[in-house]
Amino acid sequence: MWRSRAVVAALASLSLAFGAAGSAQAGVGLPPVVAHVPTSEKVVFLTIDDGWNHDPEAARILLERRVPVSLFLLPGAASYDVQYFTRLTQEGRASVENHTVGHPDLTTLDAAGKDAEVCGAGEQLGAAFGRTPKLLRPPYGAVNDDVRLAAKACGVKALVTWTHDFTTWGDVPPPTPRLAAGDIVLLHFTPTLAADLQRALDAARAAGLKPAALMPHLKSSGVI
Ligand SMILES: [Zn+2]
Repeated sequence: MWRSRAVVAALASLSLAFGAAGSAQAGVGLPPVVAHVPTSEKVVFLTIDDGWNHDPEAARILLERRVPVSLFLLPGAASYDVQYFTRLTQEGRASVENHTVGHPDLTTLDAAGKDAEVCGAGEQLGAAFGRTPKLLRPPYGAVNDDVRLAAKACGVKALVTWTHDFTTWGDVPPPTPRLAAGDIVLLHFTPTLAADLQRALDAARAAGLKPAALMPHLKSSGVI
């Protein structure tokens, strides 16, 4: 299984290289890279990455307010307390998506390395949560056509980056932007998640927007 995927990816990579040489067709047929969803509906999309810190307060907010959210998890970060996340998916409105196994910059890996990172994470998350992820958040937002090709070979329908990062990386939160319809908000499972999530929810409300599930809107807006 692993071997055949690698061969498919390698062949596809070859055909892409030849196909791109004489035309402007590079990227055609590859899953899209989405930083913002082109929708006129009054919605924003909340996403939470990695999974290292399992804060009960953040879980409480997500569950009590029934916030739709996409969780781009590293299997290793989820595995030592998988119940934290299964609760969010089963009792809440969270879906688990792919963020690779080891959080590399995928653009630096060869085809086999990309395959192991993306397909490997998909298989592990599928085994843990009962659903194979269809969305990939490439670590650092690092993408190129080879990454998109590898993602496609692993069944990924879209590579999702972000419009605004609400994560508090230093001592103080970043400035809160004015959110617009279709924006994708990036959060992380860090110790400040509950506060960061609350800022995102407040910013959404201030802009008259509601958090919504990403996958249905990617389909209804024609992105995938
Ligand atoms: Zn990450």
